[in-house]
Amino acid sequence: MAKTGRYSALALIRQALTGNRDWPRVWRDPEPKPAYEVVIVGAGGHGLATAYYLAREFGITDVAVLEKGWIGSGNVGRNTTIARSNYMLPGNEAFYEFSMKLWEGLEQDLNYNAMVSQRGILNLCHSDPQRDAYARRGNAMRLHGADAELLDREGVRRLCPFLNFDDARFPITGGLLQRRGGTVRHDAVAWGYARGADSRGVDILQNCEVTGFLMEDGRCVGVETGRGRIRAKKVGVAVAGSSSRVMAKAGLRLPIESHVLQAFVSEGLKPVIPGVITFGAGHFYVSQSDKGGLVFGGDIDGYNSYAQRGNLPTVEDVCEGGMAILPMIGRARLLRSWGGIMDMSMDGSPIIDRTPVEGLYLNAGWCYGGFKATPASGYCFAHLLARDEPQETAAAYRLDRFRSGRVIDEKGVGAQPNLH
Ligand SMILES: Cc1cc2nc3c(=O)[nH]c(=O)nc-3n(C[C@H](O)[C@H](O)[C@H](O)COP(=O)(O)OP(=O)(O)OC[C@H]3O[C@@H](n4cnc5c(N)ncnc54)[C@H](O)[C@@H]3O)c2cc1C
Repeated sequence: MAKTGRYSALALIRQALTGNRDWPRVWRDPEPKPAYEVVIVGAGGHGLATAYYLAREFGITDVAVLEKGWIGSGNVGRNTTIARSNYMLPGNEAFYEFSMKLWEGLEQDLNYNAMVSQRGILNLCHSDPQRDAYARRGNAMRLHGADAELLDREGVRRLCPFLNFDDARFPITGGLLQRRGGTVRHDAVAWGYARGADSRGVDILQNCEVTGFLMEDGRCVGVETGRGRIRAKKVGVAVAGSSSRVMAKAGLRLPIESHVLQAFVSEGLKPVIPGVITFGAGHFYVSQSDKGGLVFGGDIDGYNSYAQRGNLPTVEDVCEGGMAILPMIGRARLLRSWGGIMDMSMDGSPIIDRTPVEGLYLNAGWCYGGFKATPASGYCFAHLLARDEPQETAAAYRLDRFRSGRVIDEKGVGAQPNLH
């Protein structure tokens, strides 16, 4: 078992007095073993959280997480850090609220500062019918035990006086506020789960790309990797934007398309935005990081791609959304932007399920909303791998729902991945 030490005020003082020379490694860099009980493909947030909960909740520590790059190189380190549970549909709401509760205890649980910041998320509405729709969503959330407040125009003004209330085209008529929503420092989530899993004996193998699956009598019994063959009783795949490509190696075609989503960070500004704000008449969301940068994004680029970069028309579209509700954003300089690959499912909801191949399990279809799901996704995937049955809040995330018609279409746009 690795020795990671416990972080505490005392440890901080001790290290400060001894020149910070004795901090233990945060996780090990082990050589792959020939076989494990469970192999997880993909050390993003979901893969690492799965390994952590397998060890902590289900006592399964003979686990390896295989990552083709390095921890945090995928979407877990590329997202705009928003966490919320403002979902409406049965099948979604309980799951995302479960995730919110896990976020609320995560830092104590992991003994790691993930900067969970429940600053609130405010969805703006711009017409009376949209306000009605938000009232319905808020009521559904409250019925499921989540918090929601419907604000009128003055309520929004009190919270965010700097918004463009009287825009002729998109006047602000109110908003739906979830105070427990907010942001979490994305890469710290990956590091925290990695440290927690490693300290319980999980092997995290970076630079270890899975290139194929080992099959015996139609059953998956391990993986081929760039660092040799690794056998396993169960293989769980959690590779987000690479899901279709990786599962194709096992002969499976998924109801998923991959699309690019971009994120943007401005220069550091004095504190101005209290929480997360979303534009209701287009696709734009913004928050402010602790360093002062405005962190914002919008829609996916809208064409299929495996590239981790986007194109200028979407940059323009995102900036238009920003200018519509927050004209002052036009004076801030953009510092950085990047893209990530989204595994867009046909109904916009995820899949946590067994596959038709025995021994092979799938966690995918997170679209552009999977970061907030990281704790619950890891917990529920671990539950499935350990017990071969779904955890109750994830029972609807079945792979066959597209055949049986039990889709969970939160946005109501039909089987069009680019619109979810
Ligand atoms: C710009 C952007 C903004 C976003 N904003 C938000 C947001 O504000 N809120 C929110 O909830 N969600 C957001 N998301 C979505 C969220 O980031 C993802 O849904 C989520 O991170 C996906 O799960 P993950 O962390 O496990 O993925 P990843 O971190 O991508 O993990 C998958 C890992 O699998 C690895 N892999 C792939 N193929 C192989 C292979 N063959 N062998 C081994 N390893 C492999 C990859 O290298 C990667 O590290 C955003 C995404 C992007 C790109």
